[in-house]
Amino acid sequence: MTAEAAVRRTVVTCPHCGKRNRVPSVADGVPRCGNCHHALPWIVEAGDDDFVAVAERASIPALVDFWAPWCGPCRMVSPALEQLATERAGVIKLVKVDVDRASALGQRFQIQAVPTLLVLRGGEVAARQAGAAPVAVLRRWLDDALTEPKPSAKEEPS
Ligand SMILES: [Zn+2]
Repeated sequence: MTAEAAVRRTVVTCPHCGKRNRVPSVADGVPRCGNCHHALPWIVEAGDDDFVAVAERASIPALVDFWAPWCGPCRMVSPALEQLATERAGVIKLVKVDVDRASALGQRFQIQAVPTLLVLRGGEVAARQAGAAPVAVLRRWLDDALTEPKPSAKEEPS
């Protein structure tokens, strides 16, 4: 794997002013609208090659959506996740992983079913949810994962 995975760019319409912005998959800080400077919803795709850069080393917590094109519940949960990414713009980054094209990640995170959702904080799995759920349930789950105190640093054997 190369150190610098190619940065993907997606076009995001600013929810505040309607301007279309090109948002990189990897950046320091959070992407902001070039026109009104509000934080933009950060919704990106990642695969085996760029997951470390896009999700694990993200500047803010990542909500990872393991999905597949053939998965009906994924199509239901996807708009709910995009809504949360919009509501929590600047707070979370939504990272979509197509499990059919990311077999190494599927194995590593032992994805048995799609959708499977993870919250990564500082590269650590803070929460995990398998299966679709209504947006209100996902919002509470996400906010719990974001507000829970991080487990204290691993104790060094003395
Ligand atoms: Zn704007």
